[in-house]
Amino acid sequence: MTKDMTIGFIRSPRRVLSGLLGILLLALILRPALGSDTTTFDYGRHDPGEGGTAFYRPADTTEPLVNPPGEVVRNVILLIGDGMGTSQVFLSRLAACGVDCRLHMERMPVVGLMATQPLGALVTDSAAAGTALACGVRTANGMLGVSPDRKVHQNIFEAASDKGMRTGLVATSTVTHATPAAFASHVDTRNAEPIIASQMLARKINVILGGGKQFWMPQSIEGSKRQDDVDLLQRAKDLGYLFVETYGQLFAAQGPYVLGLFQNGPLTTKITLEQLAASDAVTHAQDGSGSAGSVGAVPDDDTVPAAADHANREPTIEEMTRKAIELLNANNENGFILMVEGSQIDWVCHSNDAVNCVRQTLLFDMAVKAAIDFAQADGHTLVLVTADHETGGLTITQDDNRNPRPLWSTGGHTALPVPVYAFGPGALDFGGTMDNVDIPRKLAKLLKIAPFPAELPASAGVFTADAPQAVPQRQ
Ligand SMILES: [Zn+2]
Repeated sequence: MTKDMTIGFIRSPRRVLSGLLGILLLALILRPALGSDTTTFDYGRHDPGEGGTAFYRPADTTEPLVNPPGEVVRNVILLIGDGMGTSQVFLSRLAACGVDCRLHMERMPVVGLMATQPLGALVTDSAAAGTALACGVRTANGMLGVSPDRKVHQNIFEAASDKGMRTGLVATSTVTHATPAAFASHVDTRNAEPIIASQMLARKINVILGGGKQFWMPQSIEGSKRQDDVDLLQRAKDLGYLFVETYGQLFAAQGPYVLGLFQNGPLTTKITLEQLAASDAVTHAQDGSGSAGSVGAVPDDDTVPAAADHANREPTIEEMTRKAIELLNANNENGFILMVEGSQIDWVCHSNDAVNCVRQTLLFDMAVKAAIDFAQADGHTLVLVTADHETGGLTITQDDNRNPRPLWSTGGHTALPVPVYAFGPGALDFGGTMDNVDIPRKLAKLLKIAPFPAELPASAGVFTADAPQAVPQRQ
C-alpha cells in the first residue's frame, strides 16, 4: 500500500509534467516565429543573393589540422563569433557542405567548452563577455574593462603591447562595438562609442579595421554621431595612422599604424558578383601555387582582377583579416595579437534568421581560414576560435525530408557554454572545460606575461558617466 501510494505520488506529477511538456512542444511547433518551416537548406546550392553563400570555399578535407612542432607562441589570432554556439556552427556545416564535411574552424585539432557567465547574472551581454575574454575578470553586463567598483583592469592587448607586441582589431560591426572595445577601452557603459574611439587611438592599436566612422568624425560632418567637434580621424593622422576607407585603399596600405573605417555604421557584409569572381580567381591562384604561405601577400599574377575593378567597396571580414595579419607581421620581431570578430552572427540570431545565421557564420569561417593559412605557414601562431555567448537558443531537428529544421527558443542571448577551437603552439591548453576569464589568463601564460590579470591605476584613465572628460593617454 505504501508502495502503491509512492508510485501514485510519483506518477501523478510525471503525468502532469509530460502533459506540460507536450503542450510546450506543440506550442513550439505551432508558433510561426519558432517553427521556421520555410527554412530548408539545399545542400551544396550556392545562391549569390541575400543569404547566399557562394563566397564560401569549404576545406578540401575533413582531416584535423596537425599542430606544428614547437611550443613557442609568437603570435596570437583570437577569432570571436559573436553569438556563435555549437548549433550555429553545426547548422552552417549542414548548409554549406553537408553532414560529412567540416568548417575550417572544425578542423582545428583541440576543442574545449567555455562557460560565459558575467558577474551577477546567468546570461551575459557582449560587453561583460568581452571584458572576460580581454581582461580575465568578470564584470557586470554593459561594462568594458572596469568592474562595478570602478577598478580598471588591464586587458591582454595592453599587456602584450607593453612587451613590444603589435595589436590589431577587426570587426564587421562598428570597431567601437562591445567586443572589440573590450580589448581597447575602459568605460562603464558600452554605449560610450565616441569615448571608446578616443581610447582606441590613445592605446595605439596598430591595426583597426571595421565600421563606425560616425564616431570618429566631428559633429559638423554629415553622418557624424558625435556631439562634439573632436576630429579623431585627424588625430589618428597626427598620431601616424594611415586612414583608409575602401577595399582598394586597404589593399595598398602599408605601415605600422592603419585605421580602416569602411562604413559610417556597421559593415553591410554584402558581397558583389565581381568579388565572387575575384574570390574564385584567388582560390585558383592559391590552388595553382599550392602554397598556403602566400597569405596576406598581394597576388602577383593576372588571375586576380585589378583592385581598381571593385576598389570602392568595403572589404570582407576575410580580406580584413588577411590584410591585418600582413600588416601586423611585416618587419615585426616581437609578434602580434589580433582579435577578429564576426559581429553580425549575433544580430541575425537575435532575429532568429537561420539563413543569415549560416551566411554570417560562413563569412566568419573564411576569416578563420585566413588565420589558419597564416598559422600553418608561420608555425609560431596560436589560433583560437570561440564566441562570447550563444544567441537565439538555436537547436536543430529535421523535417520530413530529413533537412535540418532550425528551432529558436529566444530572441536574446542564452546561458549556454560555447565552443573553443584551438590550433598551433599552446593549443592543448585550450582543451576541456573552462570559463571565459581563463582565455586571456592562458594566453598571458603562453606569452610570458605576468602578473595577469592585473589592475591598472585609476590614472590609466577610465570613462564613467560621472567624469566624461576623462580620456586616458598612453604613457
Ligand atoms: Zn555578443
